[in-house]
Amino acid sequence: MKTVKAYAAPSATDPLIPTTIERRDVGAKDVLIKIAYAGICHSDIHTVRGEWGPQQYPLTVGHEIVGVVEEVGSEATRHKVGDRVGVGCMVNSCRECANCQQGEEQYCLNGNVGTYGATDRDGTITQGGYSTHIVVDEDFVLTVPESIPYEAAAPLLCAGITTYSPLSHWNAGPGKKVAVVGMGGLGHMAVKIASAMGAEVTVLSQSLSKQEDGKRFGAEHYYATSDPDTFKQLTNTFDLIINTVSAKIDLDAHLGLLGLNGTMVNVGAPADALPLHVFTLFNQRRSFAGSGIGGIRETQEMLDFCAEHGIAPEIELISADAINEAYERVLSSDVRYRFVIDTATLG
Ligand code: NAP
Ligand code: ZN
Ligand code: ZN
Repeated sequence: MKTVKAYAAPSATDPLIPTTIERRDVGAKDVLIKIAYAGICHSDIHTVRGEWGPQQYPLTVGHEIVGVVEEVGSEATRHKVGDRVGVGCMVNSCRECANCQQGEEQYCLNGNVGTYGATDRDGTITQGGYSTHIVVDEDFVLTVPESIPYEAAAPLLCAGITTYSPLSHWNAGPGKKVAVVGMGGLGHMAVKIASAMGAEVTVLSQSLSKQEDGKRFGAEHYYATSDPDTFKQLTNTFDLIINTVSAKIDLDAHLGLLGLNGTMVNVGAPADALPLHVFTLFNQRRSFAGSGIGGIRETQEMLDFCAEHGIAPEIELISADAINEAYERVLSSDVRYRFVIDTATLG
C-alpha cells in the first residue's frame, strides 16, 4: 500500500479538503501512474453532492486523469515507465460479457468499475483522480499522444470520449446538421469534434455570451435558448442534437428542432426525470437516445483523432485549493471550458 496526497469530500454538504488516501500495491497487470493533471467534470459535483444517490465518504473524485507511468507490474506489457498515459471513468469491467467482448466495457453487463465511488475487486471503494498517484489495471490505461498539450489532455478522458462516442455512433460528418445544447466542458468538446468530423455545427446556449468562442471552436451558427424565436426559427432542422446540459431542459421544445429521422442524444445527466410527450417523437419520426462515456478502444481512437486533428480542450488550470470555488463556477455555467487541477499543488 502507498499513502498519497488527495482532495476529498468529507460529506455531501462539506467542501472538499486536503487528505491522504491509500493506493493498492502494484499487481502483476497493474500500472502505477504519477498523476500530473485531473479535470473537474460536472459528474464529480453531482456525485459528491449525493445527487445521483448516496455515497461512502470521504470520497475522492476525478475521472479525467493524465500522468506518467512510474511503475509497471511484472506481467504488464501495454505501457512502460515514463509513458504519458490517461485514465477515464472506468478502471475495470468483467471482460467476459458480450458487451465487454466487443469493446463496450462502459456497458458491461456485470457493471463496470467506476474510477471513483465504486466497489473495487478487493472490496474497497475506488478513489479518483484528485490525487497524486493511482494504480490501475493496464487494460484501462490509455496512451495520450505527445502532440496533445499535457495540461489540456485530461478532459479528453471524459468530456472528449462522452461526446466523440455518440457523434461517431450517429455518424456526424459532412452533410449532417448537428446541434450541441450547452457549451460547457462536454459541449465545447462536442463542437470541436463534430466540426472536425465535417458536420455543420450549431450551438444552442442559454445566451449569446460565448458566441465568439463557439465560432472559434468550429460552430457555424449560434443561438440563445432563452430567446423563444430560436425554437420557431430552427423547427425541423437538425439530423443530430447532443444535449450536454446538466440540468432539466424542455425536451419537447428541443426535440422539435430535429428534422426527419433526426436523433437527440442526451449525455447530460440531471438527477431528476425529464418529461416528454411521445407525439413530439411521432412527428418527423424522431428518436430520443442516451449515451454513456465510451469503451476503452474507442477512447484510444478519440485520443488519436484529437491528436490528428489538433483538437484539445480549452482549460483553466487551477491549484487544489481552488477546487471548491471552481465547483461553484461550474454550477453557475461560468466555466471556460474545463477546470484542470495541477496535482503538484495537492498539499
Ligand atoms: P458543465 O461544464 O457544467 O456544462 C453544462 C452546460 O450546460 C453549461 O455550461 C451550460 O451551458 C448548460 N446549462 C447548465 N445549466 C443549465 C440550465 N439550467 N439550463 C440550460 N442550460 C444549462 O458540465 P459538463 O461537465 O459538461 O457535464 C454536463 C452533463 O453531462 C452533466 O450532467 C454531467 O454529469 C454529464 N455527463 C454525462 C456523461 C455520460 O456518460 N453521459 C459523461 C460526463 C458528464 P451554456 O452556458 O452554454 O448554456
Ligand atoms: Zn465525467
Ligand atoms: Zn462485462
